[in-house]
Amino acid sequence: MAPDVHGWLKAEPRGIYLPVADAWIDPQHPVARAIVTHGHSDHARGGHGEIWATPETLAIMAARYGPQPGGVALAYGEKAGIGGVGVSLHPAGHVLGSAQVRLERDGAVVVVSGDYKRAADPTCAPFEVVPCDIFITEATFGLPVFVHPCAADEIARALARLRASPGRCLLIGAYALGKAQRVIALLREGGWERPIYLHGAVEKLCALYQAHGVDLGDLRPVAGLKADALVGEVVLAPPSALQDRWSRRLPDPITAMASGWMMVRARARQRGVELPLVISDHAGWDELTRTLLEVRPKEVWVTHGRDDALVHWCGLHQMKARALHLVGREDEDD
Ligand SMILES: [Zn+2]
Ligand SMILES: [Zn+2]
Repeated sequence: MAPDVHGWLKAEPRGIYLPVADAWIDPQHPVARAIVTHGHSDHARGGHGEIWATPETLAIMAARYGPQPGGVALAYGEKAGIGGVGVSLHPAGHVLGSAQVRLERDGAVVVVSGDYKRAADPTCAPFEVVPCDIFITEATFGLPVFVHPCAADEIARALARLRASPGRCLLIGAYALGKAQRVIALLREGGWERPIYLHGAVEKLCALYQAHGVDLGDLRPVAGLKADALVGEVVLAPPSALQDRWSRRLPDPITAMASGWMMVRARARQRGVELPLVISDHAGWDELTRTLLEVRPKEVWVTHGRDDALVHWCGLHQMKARALHLVGREDEDD
């Protein structure tokens, strides 16, 4: 029997809404009360009256959008009551502070996963399996072809290319929130102990991660350095900088990009990427299906992404499923 959440939880095209609490999860527009899963811009927008989120997410929002006076910090596992709904946040393993939202009322439990992954990531708390009746999941990589390789192997490949390329530097394009810090941590785990050089657009969030105890080693700004000084070095920049004037200051860069979409060759070509690195902060097909088997909800709601295959898969595994087709969820990161 599917649990009855009618009356206290609604899936609107604009997002998940709790009418009894007048609260939206990850609203795209300013609202009176928001519960925010994580700091990416397709989930976190500034200017809400009240913002319930982890302390890390609130810090990220403040860094990106300025002070958010309505912030109410909820640590992982801490319980709150919002308008008659029991609310707690649990690690999603996506980026620093990222959370699944557990909601409970009238004996029914709903978990809104937000973006998540199951692969190891030393820069954030690992995904926690939270039992529930209804599991609301993303499906960015919801096709069986999307099985991401081991990220450490991708980084090892990049370092090998740099070592075999005298006179060049390694320029890695990575989204400023989450991906950049994970790539740096992976480089450190892969034995890269030299300073890592940063484009100005990734400096602030790297500093925020370090202030939250994530060890990223010696990071230095590219600004002010001459090309000679960067020969043989690793440089990190946002994807938008790979093709622009900024990168011309670098010594013959090996242009790499870290993204789950790099397994699609056309996407790598489009961006002029010489060395695609398949590193995803979203669950691949294997992680999505493993998660559903572990959470074992009675019902699965798919927010966005490649929902058809996942909905079909749920049917084969005795889980009721529906696609919500939420709007405005084109991921900032991937
Ligand atoms: Zn995200
Ligand atoms: Zn997202």
